[in-house]
Amino acid sequence: MYVAVDDTDSSTWMCTTFLATELIRTLDDLDLIGFPRLVRLNPAVPWKTRGNGALCIRVGKGCGDRQYIGSIAGRKIFCYSDLESEPDIDDVFSRCIDLVKEWSQTDHADPGLVVCRDDVDASLYDKAVHRIISKEEALSYLEGKDHRVFQINKGRGVIGASASISWKPGDYTYEVLAYRERSKWGTPRHVNAEDVRQLDELFPSTFNNYDEGLSKPAIVPNTSCPILYGVRGDSFEDLLKAREFIRSEEVERWLIYLSNQGTDDHIIEDYHSLEPNSSYAVEGTVASIPVTVAGGHVILTIDAGEKLECAAYEPSKGFRNVIRALRPGDLVKVFGELREEPRTLNIEKLQVVSLSSFKIKVANPKCSVCGRIMKSVGAGQGYRCRDCGTKSNDVLMAEEPRTISIGWYEPPVCSRRHLSKPLKRCNFED
Ligand code: ATP
Repeated sequence: MYVAVDDTDSSTWMCTTFLATELIRTLDDLDLIGFPRLVRLNPAVPWKTRGNGALCIRVGKGCGDRQYIGSIAGRKIFCYSDLESEPDIDDVFSRCIDLVKEWSQTDHADPGLVVCRDDVDASLYDKAVHRIISKEEALSYLEGKDHRVFQINKGRGVIGASASISWKPGDYTYEVLAYRERSKWGTPRHVNAEDVRQLDELFPSTFNNYDEGLSKPAIVPNTSCPILYGVRGDSFEDLLKAREFIRSEEVERWLIYLSNQGTDDHIIEDYHSLEPNSSYAVEGTVASIPVTVAGGHVILTIDAGEKLECAAYEPSKGFRNVIRALRPGDLVKVFGELREEPRTLNIEKLQVVSLSSFKIKVANPKCSVCGRIMKSVGAGQGYRCRDCGTKSNDVLMAEEPRTISIGWYEPPVCSRRHLSKPLKRCNFED
């Protein structure tokens, strides 16, 4: 039996993952089948609170392999590889409704709860991670299935909840989330920054841990939500060890989730046209020298069938220098979300496929009569020899030494998207 929730929190209170832990705590007579799932959906959805994450657990009588994956309210949490039997759907549904009501921020959110006995077609996830879809379309995927839906306000969370059930992991990662004691919610967090800095070296299968440029852990949220930290990685065994390694304030509960974070699942590679509110990998030729605009953002214009403006924003810090180093004629592949207004591709990652030979002026022209170096007459008016008055426009050009190489570039850890695949996870030999 799948139980999925979304859109229960606000930017200032709670977190839908915490509700997932409460569902597990309350449904303690049932086993977890597989890992709880933290499924990120289209990051370009305008009405998302933070990272457009939906949560799905599967419960029933478990059998097969048993894995230790967390601790909630002093109880060890295990999940099972296989389902032996399904629980009563109405019993599960009514118990979950009470929790959704209890933990939802109903004046700011549009909570949705979906309980479904059957699998949901994976094409729903495919749409929800790439495009904007309606609630009606999401609900149409549940037709004919043994399911129950509960919603509050507009109930838009039903979209994410249904989509999280339909996720059939191709590429996947894990995240261990550690939660704070209730009395600490909203107060400054205490997590040993040096321990976090060492995670990449000690547990190489983890990623997005520490931002060297900002000298700051990236695993600790800034909001007042119940999460203390979250470590992401490819191996749940390493996440178990990493959690034990990190010294911090008291961890009230923790849980390992299976996730599509860090997979690039949101990127559309094959497209007919570039529609806003989706994310793409766009190959194109740099059309002009990148410019830095007010606020320190860098705008790159590429020719990709249409002239497309791509932006590296100020928070991406040193990554902007990579963009600034590009020159007309360079061939690049830009990954990012296409905004509606202004129509700009927000750069999440970039491949420099080939470099052009770009010429720059190295000296004023030499006088062809007397050999003297000419002087500029004025902006756009050419050059003149001071001795004999000869005029010329033939400045000396030479190939600009390039400060960028062919290869892949990504923003620093703190300005990465949840879904963006870090270069650390990319197998370039393939
Ligand atoms: P948090 O990260 O704190 O859990 P959030 O960023 O997930 O919050 P929500 O408050 O859950 O934000 O809002 C996202 C809303 O967008 C939900 O109602 C979800 O159902 C809906 N949604 C998700 N994907 C899509 C999509 N592809 N098209 C339309 N709506 C979507």
